[in-house]
Amino acid sequence: MVSKRCRVVIVGAGYAGVMAANRLAGNQRLSDSISVTVLNPAADFVERIRLHEVAAGTRESASVLMRTLLHQRAAMVEGTASRIDPEHRKVHLAGTRATLDYDILLYAVGSTQASSKIPAGAYGLKDSEDARRLRDRLIQLDPAATVSVIGAGLTGIEVAAEIAEQYPHLQVRLISRGAIAESLSGPGRHAVTKRLSALGVEMVENTDVKRCDDSSIQTAGGEASPSDCTIWTAGFSAPDLARESGLVTDGLGRLIVGESLSCPQYPNIFGAGDAIQAPPSVAGHLRMSCATALPLGAHAADNIIARLEKRAPAPLSAGYMLRCISLGRKSGLIQAVHADDRPRSLVLRGRLAGMAKAQMCRMTLSWIRGELRRNGSYNWPTGPRPAEAR
Ligand SMILES: Cc1cc2nc3c(=O)[nH]c(=O)nc-3n(C[C@H](O)[C@H](O)[C@H](O)COP(=O)(O)OP(=O)(O)OC[C@H]3O[C@@H](n4cnc5c(N)ncnc54)[C@H](O)[C@@H]3O)c2cc1C
Repeated sequence: MVSKRCRVVIVGAGYAGVMAANRLAGNQRLSDSISVTVLNPAADFVERIRLHEVAAGTRESASVLMRTLLHQRAAMVEGTASRIDPEHRKVHLAGTRATLDYDILLYAVGSTQASSKIPAGAYGLKDSEDARRLRDRLIQLDPAATVSVIGAGLTGIEVAAEIAEQYPHLQVRLISRGAIAESLSGPGRHAVTKRLSALGVEMVENTDVKRCDDSSIQTAGGEASPSDCTIWTAGFSAPDLARESGLVTDGLGRLIVGESLSCPQYPNIFGAGDAIQAPPSVAGHLRMSCATALPLGAHAADNIIARLEKRAPAPLSAGYMLRCISLGRKSGLIQAVHADDRPRSLVLRGRLAGMAKAQMCRMTLSWIRGELRRNGSYNWPTGPRPAEAR
């Protein structure tokens, strides 16, 4: 039995934060003994996995009204955390003297692209503002202008394909430091490069772009080539909040948490999503993604509940089954993977895969809403067995 009302504050209402809020606020056993407050800069939930659609103009907006996703027992505070004071258990809000007091904090501020990591003159794609700025630039470009997408991970591939399909007159170039789509299986890579070629995307491999301006890019070797719009899809890191609050972080600014997602230094601080780094024993195979943020949010909530009910926390176990990539609106690729994200040879390609990817994007919100209707309903693939772990 829980004896006192516990104030849980969740900083960041993205995939991890909202999933956790719903799991906590909807828990019947704790309904009289817990308050859940979510702090987020905007009143809308941003479907970041759709930002490339907004940028290319195939979707008007990636915003969803938060109230349609968030449990009614979770309070929403619009604001930005400027500092966490772990000694006094307070979150300071930017632009005001107001603070939020907590007994338990969940750190779920997602990822960002630090301006220092992106050359001046390049377009990022970390949030809705970036996506709208890029959309406005693409609309202005002359026919036959060159668009360079830097970084050929899954996001870079999706961005390049979306723009090439929507603006067939533009010269779209996808530039990779290594090979294009190198994390996919052979058949997966073949399907992606075939589709990109069909869309007219020029693929440039083993090229490190160092600088750019309004009209050109320059490689590490000093070679310059024209680029009327340069989009940077690499260089994601975590916001500075944890580091600036004196919490222990890794080189990317991610909060270091233990296997049960609580902070070794301050056990009443938990973390989930892109903004944290858990030990390799449970998270060595995990990548920044919504496919990771949802399970981590749910697992952190489960361990907060365990803490309140004086049960032992469970170590994280989260893995993958599929990687789902859109290749424009008419095509996609579904890559089967092992629990530790290593690709299997099985792939689904073409229009059917595009439909499956679109359905998967819809499912992310369905899983979040599912927690509103049936508490504890969200399940996820377990992580690799120890022998499989990298
Ligand atoms: C173009 C693009 C396409 C993508 N496609 C895919 C895909 O197909 N599949 C996939 O799995 N992943 C994809 N991702 C990655 C995925 O979007 C992220 O990994 C995911 O959003 C991480 O979830 P999160 O909850 O950790 O953080 P977020 O969803 O980023 O949410 C964090 C929240 O915290 C808020 N916040 C930040 N700082 C503060 C603060 N100081 N105070 C209060 N609140 C704060 C933010 O405003 C935001 O609302 C894509 C990303 C991009 C950019």
